Amino acid sequence: ERAAAATAPITDGALADGTKIPLLANLGSPKDAAEAVALGAEGVGLFRTEFLFLDSKTAPTVEDQQKQYTELLSHFPGKKVVVRALDAGADKPLSFLNDAHEENPALGLRGLRALRAKDEILRDQLTALVNSQNETEADLWVMAPMVSDSDETDFFVKLGKELGLTTVGVMAEVPSLAVMADQVAELSDFVSIGTNDLTQYTLAADRMLSTVASYQDPWHPAVLRLVKLLGDAGAATGKPVGICGEAAADPQLAVVLVGLGATTLSMTPAALADVRAELLGVTLEQARAKAVAALAAHSAAGAREAAAQA
Ligand code: PEP
Ligand code: MG
Repeated sequence: ERAAAATAPITDGALADGTKIPLLANLGSPKDAAEAVALGAEGVGLFRTEFLFLDSKTAPTVEDQQKQYTELLSHFPGKKVVVRALDAGADKPLSFLNDAHEENPALGLRGLRALRAKDEILRDQLTALVNSQNETEADLWVMAPMVSDSDETDFFVKLGKELGLTTVGVMAEVPSLAVMADQVAELSDFVSIGTNDLTQYTLAADRMLSTVASYQDPWHPAVLRLVKLLGDAGAATGKPVGICGEAAADPQLAVVLVGLGATTLSMTPAALADVRAELLGVTLEQARAKAVAALAAHSAAGAREAAAQA
């Protein structure tokens, strides 16, 4: 019986009432794709592309990038793969993209801001992604990191489509973007919430600084209220709202995020089994009740407690 359990197919992410919540993988290299598939990832919710650019004095060519993207996509025929445009700056410095000294790099020229300042790097990356999209069967979605508002959303979505991408979206990591969620959802094909940075910026606590680590808690009701704005905007426009920050890997918080309107959850593959099991134990109505309770709490600890009691 034990052997049978070990080889039983892994079920897709779903709630107790049958509501589908696709469970996706966060990956940092195409080499990790096979293991994610083995652990039941239904696709990729965040492919970090920094590995292509790190330890390098110059940007990789379109051909170099295309080879890596095609390798990744070939593991997911017919499946969704969300690739993030280069997220350099702050905790991921890159000399050729941003060489100016910054006192507060998390608040500096990073993510989409840096890509707009070095337009050819952005265009090359998107061109490589279009080429890979056209040579594989995967459903490629592309998103920008560190987007501040609906104007920046419009810029990125238009550029991606002009170059030939099919599905183009933005990450919600900056509180101003979440505040503008209604406008953003109109313009974007999808939104993916990066709870790591969204928490850092909402609580104004550097995620790299151990002295303020206790603030870096995505259970904080202020973060959850921003997630709700994004979830509501997604529901109103019919646009998918994913979670790709560490918060999705916390099974109890994953339930709350679904209750706030998240339609997919992406996480480190090792967390998939525990989140899958937790979701199977609650209905959408119960997840929403837990979300309502957490939103009314006064602190991260209070939200954890309230969700557990609801
Ligand atoms: C995030 O900020 O939540 C995120 C997923 O991106 P990263 O951790 O790579 O900044
Ligand atoms: Mg981030």
